[in-house]
Amino acid sequence: MGRVYNFSAGPAVLPEEVLREAAAEMLDYQGSGQSVMEMSHRSKVFDKIIKDAEQDLRDLLNIPDNYKVLFLQGGAHLQFAMIPMNLMKNKVADYIVTGQWAKRAFKEAQKFGDAKCIASSEDKTFSYIPDCSDLPIDDDADYVYICENNTIYGTKFKTLPNTKGKDLVADVSSCFLSEPMDVSKYAVIYGGAQKNIGPAGVVIAIIREDLITEDVLPGTPTMLQYKTHADNDSLYNTPPCYGIYICGKVFKWLKKQGGLEAMKEYNEKKAKILYDFLDESKLFKGTVEKNSRSLMNVPFVTGDADLDAKFIKEATEAGFVNLKGHRSVGGMRASIYNAMPIEGVEKLVEFMKKFEAENA
Ligand SMILES: *Cc1c(COP(=O)(O)O)cnc(C)c1O
Repeated sequence: MGRVYNFSAGPAVLPEEVLREAAAEMLDYQGSGQSVMEMSHRSKVFDKIIKDAEQDLRDLLNIPDNYKVLFLQGGAHLQFAMIPMNLMKNKVADYIVTGQWAKRAFKEAQKFGDAKCIASSEDKTFSYIPDCSDLPIDDDADYVYICENNTIYGTKFKTLPNTKGKDLVADVSSCFLSEPMDVSKYAVIYGGAQKNIGPAGVVIAIIREDLITEDVLPGTPTMLQYKTHADNDSLYNTPPCYGIYICGKVFKWLKKQGGLEAMKEYNEKKAKILYDFLDESKLFKGTVEKNSRSLMNVPFVTGDADLDAKFIKEATEAGFVNLKGHRSVGGMRASIYNAMPIEGVEKLVEFMKKFEAENA
């Protein structure tokens, strides 16, 4: 069997070119006689890998000089804790709860201080992004927190919330590098790599320098202080070396595609094919309010659980895999990250049309 069209929400599809390059370098990375998995993280060879990865990411996102880029571990979930531990100086934070990941982050922050939910879309199963133009932001809030793209529900913030001057923290795991972003509007941007960037095991955090201090909550372990990692260029302890190497290759691939403006155009084109079909289909329908639709995660249903199951089964047999919706919502979800080629979406829609005709 050849390669499938992989619509997984994460770990997710990577550019085939990147995988081929990594395969070619597996036994002997650029004449070093070793795999990147086998070499010291203190070696010159690895130092170049991590420095290049950081520089390429800085180029792609135009990251201002007063922001640090950290390569961390522990998944997005550990950031749910690290953010309050490092940023809750007043022990107050405001959370906008637009899905399960935002909710988990909110719950975790409550362990460390007065975390408040100032807006939520749970009333309609997180199928929209609430109006965030005039929220009751606490005067003492250390930050306002969002999950910018809600992987499970397929919603995305089209405009950032009005934080009334407070620092904005964003989980961008599932929309990282899918389009340009103005880093200077955020205090912290972070994301797990396994959605749109690389393998599981790497988390990238972009943090404004003035927030990286020793003034953290008492008892914060050394490994959970941003300062530890910032002071050591992400090499305080052994980093996830191989994952960083693959992320670096994906950054170079993105530059070759024309950067994030080009990716945005490509991603919009891909998503439009699927959304246009969902809007005209008599069988399938999207579950998200139109103005909140994500470019990356597209949930849809037939309205009949048995038919959903039949669709997923037949799609899998036809080489369209991982289309099952998240276990908490059911139905289907097509994740169409950067590395999903447009042919994958075109062929999926063809297959959906055929299924619709056969099951009318
Ligand atoms: C997948 C995901 C998470 C959880 O990531 P882990 O790396 O498993 O901790 C958090 N936030 C978003 C937006 C995600 O897509």
